[in-house]
Amino acid sequence: MDSLAIDASAKATAQHWLDAFSKALASGDKQAIAALFAGECFWRDILAFDWDLRMMTGALKIAERLLSHVAKTAPREFQLAKDRTPPRVVMRAGTDCIEALFTFESEVGPCNGVVRLVPENGTYRAWTLATLLDEIRGHEDPANGKRWQNVDWKRNFGGENWADRREKAKAYADRDPAVLVVGAAQAGLMIAARLSMLGIDTLTIDREQRIGDSWRRRYHALTLHNETRVNHLPYMPFPRSWPVFIPKDMLANWFELYVEAMELNVWSGTELTKARWDEEAKRWTVTLKRPDGSERIMHPRHVVFCNGVSTIPKMPDLPGLKEFKGTVSHSGKYGSGLDWVGKKALVLGTGTSGHDVAQDLAVSGAAEVSIIQNGQTLIVSLKEAQAPYALYDEDISFEDKDLIAASFPFPIYQRSHQRITKMNAENDKTLLDGLVKRGFKLTSGPQGDGWQIMYGRRGGGYYFDAGCSQMIVDGKVGLIQYGDIERFCAEGARMKDGTVKQADLIVLATGYLGQKEAVRPLLGDEITDRIGPVWGFDEEGELKGMWRPTGQPGLWFLAGGLAQCRIYSKVLALQIKAREIGIV
Ligand SMILES: Cc1cc2nc3c(=O)[nH]c(=O)nc-3n(C[C@H](O)[C@H](O)[C@H](O)COP(=O)(O)OP(=O)(O)OC[C@H]3O[C@@H](n4cnc5c(N)ncnc54)[C@H](O)[C@@H]3O)c2cc1C
Repeated sequence: MDSLAIDASAKATAQHWLDAFSKALASGDKQAIAALFAGECFWRDILAFDWDLRMMTGALKIAERLLSHVAKTAPREFQLAKDRTPPRVVMRAGTDCIEALFTFESEVGPCNGVVRLVPENGTYRAWTLATLLDEIRGHEDPANGKRWQNVDWKRNFGGENWADRREKAKAYADRDPAVLVVGAAQAGLMIAARLSMLGIDTLTIDREQRIGDSWRRRYHALTLHNETRVNHLPYMPFPRSWPVFIPKDMLANWFELYVEAMELNVWSGTELTKARWDEEAKRWTVTLKRPDGSERIMHPRHVVFCNGVSTIPKMPDLPGLKEFKGTVSHSGKYGSGLDWVGKKALVLGTGTSGHDVAQDLAVSGAAEVSIIQNGQTLIVSLKEAQAPYALYDEDISFEDKDLIAASFPFPIYQRSHQRITKMNAENDKTLLDGLVKRGFKLTSGPQGDGWQIMYGRRGGGYYFDAGCSQMIVDGKVGLIQYGDIERFCAEGARMKDGTVKQADLIVLATGYLGQKEAVRPLLGDEITDRIGPVWGFDEEGELKGMWRPTGQPGLWFLAGGLAQCRIYSKVLALQIKAREIGIV
């Protein structure tokens, strides 16, 4: 830090900056606004100044953009957030700063803000600023305190009771929903809950027979890799008695419970088979295949695809694989290692699924298991992999944790992950050295930015070591470099040195095609090509086509880990609500 030590009251400093910011915005003085920002500065806006997610860099550019939106947004009543985490000194991405939560009003409704102030040239200036729309005025989420007063079930003798009304709401006998959500796993259920709370008629469908089956059908040994304290669904946190890492079936059962408790309209065993956009009527015509084989045509105004990033398996056409006499299975279809006791297996792929499958086979009693690596992989121990969630250990409310998590502009998020990744590698040194000794090829991501940014860029390429890496080090799971394989053959893999690696089973842990390719057969090429890119970061560091408008009106995507879905389902719900009430 420079000479100006943060010993003065963080609150007074934050209040001073906020007053000056409010005044400068009202005056329309570009230089005055710019002067409030530090030499290195970023602004992330989530729906507060514009109906999109945007990130700006540089004091003048930020000032210009703020001013260009002031007339429409009419930001006012800036104040430090009441009854929330007070301004305090924290370290973010290696920088000491004063972090302050504030609120303001806009033409649309109440907004939240997070500013991080650093000392520069004798005063405190904004290093990062985040502004986020919280609610649409007049359409507030009733869960924010008012619900219990508003909903009053009368004893309706001779009339419909709650159960009758739920059945009617779910049946859609004489109406169509405003929103169709495709996929009733975590992303689908969270957006359905958010939309329903905002009073939007939402039907969620899933081709699986039972809610939660997308998790139940994954391999037997699967347990989540991120800790329960970070993973809560909105409105209904997991019980405090739950384990640190949730087993897959436990999560699946929670989804069923969530549907009932949140009064969501879900049709399971129902598949979206076709969707066409009517530009004139501004609505979709969707064909739903029901469990009895019948079809139902509906006309929702919005379709939200929560069809998963792990839906269509990537099945590479590898030389000689068709000649293999044993079983070839994608990791998504792999069941349990107990089916392969005494047998030999090759697992192609060194991401999470590849490692988990190899470990499951080895501990279940397979005679020989080798994992095949093609390229480089980031390895981080399960313990170290929780480091990005340190925010969730802070003694502040869960709501504030989510707000702070969403407030980081990409460059700071990236810097933070670079630091974490470096620290992880130091703490995991023994394990990583052991892997290198075995010939395992390691990476820390393209710019050393670690697993979370790899997930955002390509959806994988890393493994949180839940034991398999040590098994590779110890030789309990063999390691083969793909480059050393000549081709696959009837018995297994023929190596370039002429030997044959025998196998009864080859598991392709080769990942999945993206969400966009999964919708192509349903939407056709014309609409799919109009959507634009989905997933991966844009030049401002925001995810492309995810929880924000796509190139196709009325078409949205939501995906990601549980925490991401919780935070950004709200962002998406607000955008759909705004369109439904005609303010966008
Ligand atoms: C092995 C494995 C381990 C993982 N571990 C973790 C973890 O620890 N933590 C974490 O946060 N994430 C983890 N993930 C990532 C995981 O995929 C996602 O977090 C989660 O499953 C994504 O949820 P989702 O709702 O986006 O999609 P999914 O769970 O994939 O669900 C998509 C749903 O859409 C339905 N669907 C698709 N198309 C249609 C259609 N046309 N009509 C009707 N229904 C349709 C499918 O049936 C499915 O139920 C893991 C993934 C895998 C494969």
